[in-house]
Amino acid sequence: TSVPRVRLNDGHEIPQLGFGVFLVDPPETERIVADALEVGYRHIDTARIYENEEGVGRALAASGIPREELYVTTKLWNSDQGHRSALDAFDASLERLGLDYVDLYLIHWPVPSKDRYVESWKALEQIRESGRARSIGVSNFLAPHLQRLIDETGVVPAVDQIELHPAHQQPETTAFAADNGIAIESWGPLGQGKYPLLEMGEVTDAAAAHGKSPAQVVIRWHLQRGFIVFPKSNRRERMAENFDVFDFELSDAEMQRITGLERAGRVGPDPANFG
Ligand code: NAD
Repeated sequence: TSVPRVRLNDGHEIPQLGFGVFLVDPPETERIVADALEVGYRHIDTARIYENEEGVGRALAASGIPREELYVTTKLWNSDQGHRSALDAFDASLERLGLDYVDLYLIHWPVPSKDRYVESWKALEQIRESGRARSIGVSNFLAPHLQRLIDETGVVPAVDQIELHPAHQQPETTAFAADNGIAIESWGPLGQGKYPLLEMGEVTDAAAAHGKSPAQVVIRWHLQRGFIVFPKSNRRERMAENFDVFDFELSDAEMQRITGLERAGRVGPDPANFG
């Protein structure tokens, strides 16, 4: 399978489908990521707060896959925001991953109450200039936070990784991102299993029509919207299922029905006051 690549505003390309490791148990991570790589995933999304960067790094090293074929993202945790602390946290993440560089480094949450995301962003710029992160971006930033970064630093994030699934499509943030050349990554693409997305008629009808599973239909919806997506599963058969989404296409009518499920129904924290 060849996964489409999305060109970012800095010229680098990212595989549009990857594998996320939030809530993947640290002791099991090496085995689970090894399975994902065997299934065919080449893009892994982790974070310092997931406490499984070491396991990710061990699986990557053991796979023997050339570094340039892999795409690795990690993230700066909230308590490490600040200029010096961000530089130190990045070094520690790179060390745990056992890598010379990451493909993408993100500020995990804006944490507006601490007001350190602009100085953290300047540290990320420095990291990118050093070559140890190919691209830099943010996560859970709303339009006003993105605007402030751009106004105060002139550096536009390559991506914004936000909670995004049919019940919570964040139209304001995605419109701002589109206007400013920022790629959107959907986290919780299946709604984290916290609402019955995979049982909704809008999804199951399309699944039946194409002979695919509801999860495959939802992943396809993200891909056809142009979002970058990395569903998580500990189970190899589901990893394979979630990767097997390039042999069918949802019609405009099917896309519209699923898009009609928007109800501002977030399953995660509110970025305006989290952290
Ligand atoms: P997800 O929407 O990918 O849901 C994962 C859950 O869906 C699994 O635990 C499983 O129960 C179920 N599932 C997976 N495949 C399935 C299938 N084929 N059929 C039925 N059920 C299936 O949620 P997520 O893991 O939170 O999000 C994906 C990734 O996004 C994470 O692993 C992480 O890398 C990233 N993420 C980032 C943030 C952030 O703040 N930046 C927050 C949460 C997640």
